[in-house]
Amino acid sequence: MRLWSRELWRIAWLATLGVCLGWLLGAPGLGLAAGLSACLFYHLRQLLALYQWLTLHPHDEPPAARGMWGELLDRLYRYQKSQRITQSRLRATLARIQESSEAMRDSVVMLDRHGDLEWWNSAATEMLGLQAAHDRGQHITNLLRDPRFISYFNACEYGEPLTLTSPIDERRILQYQITLYGDDERLVMARDITRLHRLEQMRRDFVANVSHELRTPLTVLSGYLETYSDLADQLPPRLGRGIGQMQEQTQRMQNLVNDLLLLSRLEIDQGGQDHQSLDVGSMLESIRRDALALSHQHNVKVVVECDAQLVGSEQEIRSAISNLAYNAVRYTPAGSHITLRWAAMANGSACIEVDDDGEGIDPVHIPRLTERFYRVDKGRSTATGGTGLGLAIVKHVLLRHDAQLQIESHPGEGALFRCIFPVSRLLPAGPSH
Ligand code: ADP
Repeated sequence: MRLWSRELWRIAWLATLGVCLGWLLGAPGLGLAAGLSACLFYHLRQLLALYQWLTLHPHDEPPAARGMWGELLDRLYRYQKSQRITQSRLRATLARIQESSEAMRDSVVMLDRHGDLEWWNSAATEMLGLQAAHDRGQHITNLLRDPRFISYFNACEYGEPLTLTSPIDERRILQYQITLYGDDERLVMARDITRLHRLEQMRRDFVANVSHELRTPLTVLSGYLETYSDLADQLPPRLGRGIGQMQEQTQRMQNLVNDLLLLSRLEIDQGGQDHQSLDVGSMLESIRRDALALSHQHNVKVVVECDAQLVGSEQEIRSAISNLAYNAVRYTPAGSHITLRWAAMANGSACIEVDDDGEGIDPVHIPRLTERFYRVDKGRSTATGGTGLGLAIVKHVLLRHDAQLQIESHPGEGALFRCIFPVSRLLPAGPSH
């Protein structure tokens, strides 16, 4: 305010001086104009000095000036200086971040809000084939063209990583993970998991091969045991009992080998070839008959509340639902009620439910139930002939059908296993294809 009034005083003083001099010369109006022109000239000169300083020598000290101009130039100079310090600090931080990303073995690619490439480290050049010379500013999907990557990128649901082969080397397996940050910008990370993938494949092949190799000796063993058990009345009682137990254990081993083989097939095989539209109602009816053959003392009923058809592999879905139905029979006391239900859900999806009123499961076990060989009560499970793989098979089958397994249970209140199939897996009622 003080500067402002001084500036006003300066103008008033020059104007008065101009009027006085003009009055002495007999032309006060001309004098006033000359005074104000002098004032204008002074400000234009300061403006020119400011312009020259900012455009020609922005890093030098500001031109000397007094009053309001001096203060203005001083403030501008201080502001410029602090901006320069912040900028150099930011540049150093950015350089450090880029340096550390550069040292990473994983690919890091920064994209702007449109999905165009902004920056990437050298691992990305080596893994994804991005070239600094001509790829900067390109859209990521122009360079990573796999349709699975494109739909993963566009879906904007990056909770789970995506596994694909490298776009420049078929033998390398990469795991992509995208993170959203800032103003809708994205960070794409790609990790080379070739070794892990190979190990996983070796594990699967090993389990499949061992299970396959065990099949023949087990068939021979159970064949002989069956022959011996036919002659049980000619054998001493102790031997007869032993043979009975051996038969039981061989049967368990055969079940285990079959389940392991089925699981390996579900893991290795891509699936989808035998998908057709299924009449869930009649499938549940036949599963009901099989469940009753396992135990006549249970009440098993089928409820069909949805007339859509399900698209999937008949063999796989039947095996999954049979597993759930047999579990319901095996883990509930005689006289329990079991319901197999095909129902529509509010959001357009549909579900197959296997519901029982048995003893139920403590909720602490539920998150781990689908793990291989996880059992709530090991003694009881083996006594009922369980392999510990039933729910793992269910989970895999459902995964291959884009479906989800929900388990609801409380001790003493029965258990409900719900397999939820998305709309994309349903066909409205009509003749089967
Ligand atoms: P298993 O072959 O041992 O039955 P599963 O994977 O099929 O293995 O089941 C895992 C465990 O879940 C079982 O050991 C059992 O304790 C529990 N379970 C499964 N279904 C039911 C059910 N309907 N009621 C109570 N417990 C169940």
